[in-house]
Amino acid sequence: MRELVKVWKEPEVLQGKRIQALVAIITTRGCSWFRRGGGCTMCGYNIPRGDVEINGEVLKGELERVASAFGGEELIKIYTSGSFLDPGEVPQEAVEHFVESLGRRAEELGVRPHLLVESRPEYVTEEALEPLISNFSVTVAQGLETSSDVIREESIRKGFRTVDFLRALEVLKRTGAGSKVYLLLKPPFLTEREAIEDVVGSFEFLKDLYVQTISVNPVNVQKGTLVERLYREGKYRPPWLWSLIYVLKVGKAIAGDRRVMSEPSGGGRPRGPHNCFRCDRRVLRAIRDFSYSPDNSLRRLEVDRCVCIRSWRFQTAFSFA
Ligand code: SF4
Ligand SMILES: [Zn+2]
Repeated sequence: MRELVKVWKEPEVLQGKRIQALVAIITTRGCSWFRRGGGCTMCGYNIPRGDVEINGEVLKGELERVASAFGGEELIKIYTSGSFLDPGEVPQEAVEHFVESLGRRAEELGVRPHLLVESRPEYVTEEALEPLISNFSVTVAQGLETSSDVIREESIRKGFRTVDFLRALEVLKRTGAGSKVYLLLKPPFLTEREAIEDVVGSFEFLKDLYVQTISVNPVNVQKGTLVERLYREGKYRPPWLWSLIYVLKVGKAIAGDRRVMSEPSGGGRPRGPHNCFRCDRRVLRAIRDFSYSPDNSLRRLEVDRCVCIRSWRFQTAFSFA
């Protein structure tokens, strides 16, 4: 049987400082939107596992393991492939138990860690946040994906609207929790150029909102998704890494002091964001350097051009300054 919880440590950046983070991926019943509506067109995280029933007790045990792995790191990132704040996915008593054991451990070590969790906007409520914010500082990451309701609905099938996201932001602001946003680069049915314009438009939209970090997720083709079907039929190409560099540059110029980043999964592979496969490594290195340097400086995105940039330019009619 596969382990239900994966835990490791990695370097991160928090409020402009290099720190150590504890990362945990816990297994839950999966995202409620997947269970209700079949999920988003690019998301393959929710393929059900039949070998164990994930109930509150099991989750308590998983979170207990996270608390005991905590060794005083400044940041704890917890991923569920769904919404940590959804009580149907992570029951309230499991959260409370976790807060208690982590709080005890933190007290012993004399530290106060920062927690990062992910959630769909409908679960961002004061009630759900209360046990977390009364004990730790907290950031909630939301997959807004795009500021366009049409693209979010027609291309991503995300099942919420921009107003829902804005309501959740209000809650985060009121409670003093931090806010991180994911934008999706190149959902299906958009050309490369439209995809770039969509992300740039979303950066503009976020410019004056309560958001401290914006992370761009380029689509990678995951198993069992609509995107995979289109990919197999030759109707979908994952985004170019040049497109990612372009939106990070323009996005950072718009976002100013906020942290802008990207952690592309499957980068440089056919099913992930890629260029010509000859230059991918160094382009990915620059993206990583930009995303994980405390200065988050645009000059880190300067990479030597490769001949394949001509094909990218031809398809998108964009170029770098
Ligand atoms: S992308 Fe997020 S909201 Fe959509 S199905 Fe996956 S986990 Fe659920
Ligand atoms: Zn190239």
